[in-house]
Amino acid sequence: MLSPAVDNLVAQLTRLPGIGTRTAQRLAFHLLAAPADEANAIGLAIADVKERVRPCRECGNLTEEELCAVCSDPRRDRTVICVVEQPVDVLSLERTHEYRGLYHVLGGALSPLDGVDPGDLRISLLVDRVQNGVEEVVLATNPTMTGEATAAYLADRLRDRVAVTRLASGLPVGGDLEYADEVTLGRALVGRRPA
Ligand SMILES: [Zn+2]
Repeated sequence: MLSPAVDNLVAQLTRLPGIGTRTAQRLAFHLLAAPADEANAIGLAIADVKERVRPCRECGNLTEEELCAVCSDPRRDRTVICVVEQPVDVLSLERTHEYRGLYHVLGGALSPLDGVDPGDLRISLLVDRVQNGVEEVVLATNPTMTGEATAAYLADRLRDRVAVTRLASGLPVGGDLEYADEVTLGRALVGRRPA
């Protein structure tokens, strides 16, 4: 409506998760009004991560080196591997400061309907890693249909080689029972512990 260049910017921004047309327009107008070097810095930052960042050779977490910060840290407990779907999940778990082991990033979850089969995820690499002195694999895939299916599949494949555990799931802190979905509430009930 205004100019093909602005329309294109809006169209590109709406491809980002959580960005609708209205938000994309607001961001586009913000960038138009911003000083050129400030706006260009965003473009350069995107080009920079695409060029520098790659998956860790060992675990699939994001890194600019051969090995990620977790794999190259000698203080990490190498007998435990926590399996997650995406690199962003590593950040969430690290924020808890509760976990000192290693990670394994699958790169997604099994979803036959979407054409995601075991060969599309970093599963054989995980099976290889488990040979080297690993005592426990913690399955921390998402508590969704595909995440649960992936956890069940991995548990079957790994159970006779190593201890396999699944993240306990419960009610979100600060949430009312009324608003918890039945899967979460059911799990919280099954996973109840002495008070
Ligand atoms: Zn790594």
